[in-house]
Amino acid sequence: MAADSPLRPGTIAVTAGRPDKVPDAPLNTPITMAATYVAGGEVEYGRYGNPTWTALEDALGALEGGRCLTFASGLAAVATVLDLVGKEGKVLVPKHGYTGTIMQLADLESRGRLTAEMVDVTDTDAVVAACDGAALVWLESPTNPALEVADIATITKAAHEAGAYVVVDNTFATPLLQRPLEDDVDIVVHSATKYLAGHSDVQMGAIVVRDDELYAVLKGRRDLVGAIPGPFEAWLTLRGLRTLHLRVERAQSNAQELVRRLAEHPALSEVRYPGFGAIVSIVLAQGEMAADLLSRKTRLWIHATSLGGVESSLERRRRWKAEAATIPEGLVRLSVGIEDVEDLWEDLRAALDGCVG
Ligand SMILES: *Cc1c(COP(=O)(O)O)cnc(C)c1O
Repeated sequence: MAADSPLRPGTIAVTAGRPDKVPDAPLNTPITMAATYVAGGEVEYGRYGNPTWTALEDALGALEGGRCLTFASGLAAVATVLDLVGKEGKVLVPKHGYTGTIMQLADLESRGRLTAEMVDVTDTDAVVAACDGAALVWLESPTNPALEVADIATITKAAHEAGAYVVVDNTFATPLLQRPLEDDVDIVVHSATKYLAGHSDVQMGAIVVRDDELYAVLKGRRDLVGAIPGPFEAWLTLRGLRTLHLRVERAQSNAQELVRRLAEHPALSEVRYPGFGAIVSIVLAQGEMAADLLSRKTRLWIHATSLGGVESSLERRRRWKAEAATIPEGLVRLSVGIEDVEDLWEDLRAALDGCVG
């Protein structure tokens, strides 16, 4: 591919990370099961590199516009980034950020490693003001499950003026709907477990950066700590990535149609949707019990945590103790899949009809 004719995302998803086109080469990068390599090369040992990871990292890096490192899980990637913060550094984090990220920060704070300051990411002026003295600004946009959207470009500019790194957890948007590195963000983090792999059968994480020095530091941390992905997981995630654009397109159009229809439903007091992506949060007017009832009543929608799979699932988020107390008890997060939207609607509407007060 010529450097002056960049391919479009859907084409990158299909073509990146394949072996060179030479006679009898396989079309797909094979799964390399190797704990060690013959001495004298660039990899040497299984913790330092693997050709199957490299294929996935090339593809995801090309989609986000940077250099990618893959990890054992999204939270392993999060931990690796938080490790960049020097002793007692200040970290800004969305108050409705992913619970695992908030829990890691609370753990590090309780051990005196850093200080975490919760911010409302929709209040750009407040976030900008809080950047003063920060070492790292963690953004998640949209947030999980409040679905708040941050002004990434404005916050990034202010954070850089304050000398802070900016991280965006891009799990919900995927690089098809949002490419934070283009807004000058330093680090993109993914739970590849969700949309990138897309089939609810893999746990994996990723970091993408543009700066070579930062890449080397993060690679050094992965080499040292060892939160590496399995080769089979990397292969499955790359396999999933091949259809990312089709899955996201279909799931998003399903979500948009459901949002239009849900707006009228009397069982709901609120429908939250940022306008893009395939996660929708609905709030049951009758609260916690109605939300639990809904989770039991659907037949097609699966009651399960996690999101971003081809199958639609739903969950009352406050069933988790770690979820923020400011998230309504009756909020149910919908992860809209790629099924026929009429079937999704009929199942959801029938269940919701049974939850009207
Ligand atoms: C799931 C999730 C994570 C954590 O990823 P795991 O792969 O479960 O470790 C991080 N951020 C967001 C936004 C998530 O949804």
